[in-house]
Amino acid sequence: MSSILNLAPQNVWKHFHELTQVPRPSGHLEKIQNFLVDYGKKIGVESFKDEAGNVIYKKPAYPGMEDRKTVILQAHMDMVPQKNKDKVHDFEKDPIEPVVDGEWVHANGTTLGADDGMGVAAIMAVMEDKNLKHGPLEALITADEETGMYGAFALKPGTVEGDILLNLDSETEGELYIGCAGGVDINASLEYKEVPVEKEKAALKVSLKGGRGGHSGMEINQGRANANKLMARFLNQAAAESEVCLVSWEGGNMRNSIPREAESVITLDKAQVDNVKKIAENCAKTFNEEFKETETEITLTVEAVETPAVGVPQEISDNLIDAILACPNGVLRYIPTIPDTVETSSNMAIVDIKDGKASVKFLTRSSRDSMKNYMAQSIAATFRMAGMKVEMSGAYSGWEPDMKSPILGAMTKAYKTQFGEEAKVKVVHAGLECGIIGAVVPGLDMISFGPTLESPHTPNERCLIATVDRFYDFLVATLENTPLK
Ligand SMILES: [Zn+2]
Repeated sequence: MSSILNLAPQNVWKHFHELTQVPRPSGHLEKIQNFLVDYGKKIGVESFKDEAGNVIYKKPAYPGMEDRKTVILQAHMDMVPQKNKDKVHDFEKDPIEPVVDGEWVHANGTTLGADDGMGVAAIMAVMEDKNLKHGPLEALITADEETGMYGAFALKPGTVEGDILLNLDSETEGELYIGCAGGVDINASLEYKEVPVEKEKAALKVSLKGGRGGHSGMEINQGRANANKLMARFLNQAAAESEVCLVSWEGGNMRNSIPREAESVITLDKAQVDNVKKIAENCAKTFNEEFKETETEITLTVEAVETPAVGVPQEISDNLIDAILACPNGVLRYIPTIPDTVETSSNMAIVDIKDGKASVKFLTRSSRDSMKNYMAQSIAATFRMAGMKVEMSGAYSGWEPDMKSPILGAMTKAYKTQFGEEAKVKVVHAGLECGIIGAVVPGLDMISFGPTLESPHTPNERCLIATVDRFYDFLVATLENTPLK
């Protein structure tokens, strides 16, 4: 069986192979930190670990290139530990076993760690190479990216001082990322005293299922259904024709996933039960018609349940349904200068109403902080009108794309010269470390790129061999063409 050590470029694959031998699941980074600091010392570059657990290298310019801007090469050292059910593997002790399989490299039953071991291996290769032409160089290899970008968040100003940051953690060769979304969590909440339900009322359990869900950023513009929104639409229609009152409502379970399912219990006059069932049937038809191109079949079922003793007060029930129906959701705006790229969105993720407590949770994203705040305030205003308390937390900055960035200009030109085709320029509608680091080191000119990976974060993670060569060649060309100070 052929080894990854025979693959080109050998200097990158050699270091990637070393990385597979050093355990580095997120949260257990001591071994890889020591390995990386020692490596820097061994090859004679300045090398240290900061308080946040990040490893930093500093390498002087190639003689004659001292007048270039300082480039920071950035990657993350941790990997996502995922394995197949039948695979025996201890991520804190056992090495990853890479397998060359046709045009790809994958691991034997586990994640490969090419996310972001390829970025780290490329940094090691650049740091080691004495013949490479480049200006002053720094490397920032961050800790615990995968579990919450903790290394980037804890980076202290002054740790790195470069002008340009090349993030080596993208997953499609030939794409240059020049922006990402920031985010903020929004929680609307309310406590209420449950009131008795009249005995002669009927009760129905309403279940909405079948949505595809998806990532609340990357897939927010796919036209998919939000189960809580559909539930609100049904309840609003039912409430227009009969005195519907909530007993409970539970939908969605993760802030960064589009909710796939929602379930509510409502009370109403017995005489209205058949009518409300008909409304549910009609809603199901409408929803499936609206979403037939983007969803699998959505079901909306209504079944009689025992009338509960207590429920939500009528006025609060009305307010909750109205607010959930009215609040902005999905894509608010696309980036005016970059086609088909979401700038600002929100995901109404979790609705939880029961036992005297109501809460609605959101994740709002934007590459532009002012638009993120506008979206968040619109949502807050909606829920304040319903008498709810609204709190925001966990805000982090986006990375606003700059189509006139000097490094973007240099890199698109270098790509065309090298490969005879245009690189694709993109913005990702999710958080990247660049957004966080850019907030710590203002004025950084940043780009993210990398070799082609598939299914990262799963045991099917694989890396397309030929793109590693292109990625590294392009990195080398970019360094040679670093703009002047
Ligand atoms: Zn990554």
